[in-house]
Amino acid sequence: MKVRYITSLAKLDGLTDDERRRLAPVAERYAFRLNTYYANLIDWDDPRDPLRLLVVPLERELNDWGTLDASREADYTPVRGCQHKYTDTALLLVNEVCGAYCRYCFRKRLFMNDNDDASLDYRPGLQYIKEHEEITNVLLTGGDPLMLSTRRLGAVISDVAHVPHVRIIRIGTKMPAFNPFRVLDDPGLLGLITETCGQGTQIYVMNHFDHPRELTPEAREAVRRLRQAGAQTVNQCPIVRGVNARPQVFAALFRELSFIGCPQYYVFQGRPTAGNEPYEVPIIEGLHIFLEANRMVSGLAKRARFAMSHETGKIEIVGADERYLYMRYHRAHWKDDYGKMVVALRDDKAYWLDQLTIVSGPEALLHPERRLNV
Ligand code: SF4
Repeated sequence: MKVRYITSLAKLDGLTDDERRRLAPVAERYAFRLNTYYANLIDWDDPRDPLRLLVVPLERELNDWGTLDASREADYTPVRGCQHKYTDTALLLVNEVCGAYCRYCFRKRLFMNDNDDASLDYRPGLQYIKEHEEITNVLLTGGDPLMLSTRRLGAVISDVAHVPHVRIIRIGTKMPAFNPFRVLDDPGLLGLITETCGQGTQIYVMNHFDHPRELTPEAREAVRRLRQAGAQTVNQCPIVRGVNARPQVFAALFRELSFIGCPQYYVFQGRPTAGNEPYEVPIIEGLHIFLEANRMVSGLAKRARFAMSHETGKIEIVGADERYLYMRYHRAHWKDDYGKMVVALRDDKAYWLDQLTIVSGPEALLHPERRLNV
């Protein structure tokens, strides 16, 4: 199916003239992009439609709030386009465009004109990976790697798969949600996956479905074909105000994903990224949504962890009582921090670790001023 990209609010039929005029300055600051497939999933008569809120700007994005690189990814970038935060996993940012732009994106800096964090030349990153034998997993991300042509993507995958210590290539993508025809109409992509897996490098497609309504028959078929080609499929997404911040929505998402063999892997606490104020959900509210959603689904549908991608590591948010919030390092930049509990005073308004008062945990959290530069 022919899917057209829409990069200007002026060309978006679902908006009134007044909305186009009011939202133009927002789209000027934080890029707007949509496509005809996803636009057709939106109920344009409902200004609160969750899929509409996922892609159409809100004026409050212009509020002064957060920073562009909230997890300090720049600190973990040894060479342009390559991040290395955890011992065994490296990221290659191979593209700076997506099938549409999520308004709450934590990498929206990539879509800004003067940014060069992503790199179409992946060779310096590849060289870095070759020189680091501890790297067994490489995540292709961006932007969306499936926005590359299959020929270009194939070159990246082949080069990475030829590094002997790399055993898993992950493709971080929202294309099965934004435009499943990218998968359905390209047998070459499926062939590439089959060939790579057949040669001993496992491909994981890290999907990004945020709402059960994105799981259309076409999206489900795209996931089925990816699995049939040999890929493992999982899902990860943040909790986003207006889009999915209700237990019933997450329960339906978890359940449906388990039915199609694409289990939820992480649920993320939204990062305090510039422009994201309207989409933020406090940690305690997020924890409630996550736990309630889990209560409603079977064991196979509740395999996800609720985590915060903090600059010091992935911190799992485990539970809370009246006084305290309990967390644990699920991934840690400093190896010694792995598995350590972090206890903070409960604050129902806090949306990020740095706003909490830590009462026990690793040194770097108790004394952030002493946090080492990586
Ligand atoms: S698909 Fe991912 S990288 Fe692309 S806009 Fe959405 S959140 Fe950002």
